[in-house]
Amino acid sequence: MTQRTLVLLKPDAVRRGLTGEIISRIERKAGWQITALELRTLDQDTLEQHYGEHKGKPFYEPLVEFMASGPVVALIVEGERVIEGLRALAGPTDPIAAAPGSIRGDFGVIVRENLIHASDSEESAEREVKIFFPGRA
Ligand code: ADP
Ligand code: MG
Repeated sequence: MTQRTLVLLKPDAVRRGLTGEIISRIERKAGWQITALELRTLDQDTLEQHYGEHKGKPFYEPLVEFMASGPVVALIVEGERVIEGLRALAGPTDPIAAAPGSIRGDFGVIVRENLIHASDSEESAEREVKIFFPGRA
C-alpha cells in the first residue's frame, strides 16, 4: 500500500541541529522516498490551516507561537505504509511516554516541543500536502 505523508521537523529540531539525524532515520527505511523537502518559516495563516482541529484547546496558542518561532523543514515522504510508519518512527505525542528508539523518545522531553509532525491518516496527509506543497496536490 503506497502512501504519502506530510512531515514537519519542528523549530526545536532545526534549532538543535537534529534535522540530519531525523531525515537519516526516514531515509534508512527500506523503500521510502523523500519527494519534497523545504526549509521555511511558517506564517499564522498556514499554521491555522494546519492545526485547525486544535483551535480552542488550551495548548493551541502556545503551539502556534512555537511553530512560528523559527524555520521548520517540511517534507513529503512516500512509500509502503508510510503514514502509520512515520507515526511509529516519531512515537507518541508526549516524548516522556515515547519509547527510546523513537524520535520523540530519543530527543524530546516537552510535549509541545516534540520535534516532529507526521500526518495521522490518509485524509490528513492529503489535506496537509496541499497546505505545504500546493503544487503536489
Ligand atoms: P500529534 O502531533 O502527535 O499528532 P496532536 O495532534 O494531538 O499530536 O497535537 C499537535 C501538537 O500539539 C503536538 O505534536 C504537540 O506539539 C502539541 N500538543 C498536543 N497536546 C499538547 C499538550 N497537552 N500540551 C502542549 N502541547 C501539546
Ligand atoms: Mg496530530
